[in-house]
Amino acid sequence: QLRREAAVEEPDTGPGPGGRGGPYRLVLLGERGVGKTALATAFAGTPPGPPADDEPHEDSYERRLSVDDEEVTLIVYDIGDQGEAGGWLQESCVRTGDAFLLVFSVTDRGSFSRLAPALRRLRADSPRPDPPIILVANKSDLARAREVSLEEGRSMAVMLSCKHIETSAALQHNTQELFEGAVRQIRLRRGHPGG
Ligand code: GDP
Repeated sequence: QLRREAAVEEPDTGPGPGGRGGPYRLVLLGERGVGKTALATAFAGTPPGPPADDEPHEDSYERRLSVDDEEVTLIVYDIGDQGEAGGWLQESCVRTGDAFLLVFSVTDRGSFSRLAPALRRLRADSPRPDPPIILVANKSDLARAREVSLEEGRSMAVMLSCKHIETSAALQHNTQELFEGAVRQIRLRRGHPGG
């Protein structure tokens, strides 16, 4: 006689994105204060509800958008304060993402210099062989407070074999491009599994 454990079954979505229409799951990673929530808000078009005081929050924002004339559902996960590099990569978030936005602030060299070890761990822990990862250099509007140049960001991305984009969540500069680019990356991987 076969018995099934009640209520412990994982939803049968398996790893990997759904069809071309999604949903695709994007996870925002990065240290506190780099602008993850601001980016998620730019994506959603509305600010999140008031956060509980000092509590880590987990919000997701779902939108349908059209990328290269194809509709897709995109879900963006803002999993809240992840502390320094050690706390970033909770297993659940690594398993959730079809792609990852690794965010740093161009005004905070510390958030930049801790990217490499976090990214290595992300790759090691991911159930997918080569998940799309985009390095997001946020707060590009704060020119006078800038500590990390465009060139440094780019060469870090080359070194780590990921994409790179500078954004300003505050001005919504390049935010649309960021999310559309992520969709394209996921589609590319789907077209060439394992490569
Ligand atoms: P999180 O901890 O990574 O979620 O960071 P938040 O989204 O809460 O942003 C931290 C602070 O930086 C907030 O005061 C934001 O308003 C500000 N911020 C976020 N993105 C930008 C940006 O692109 N430009 C500027 N000038 N400020 C930003």
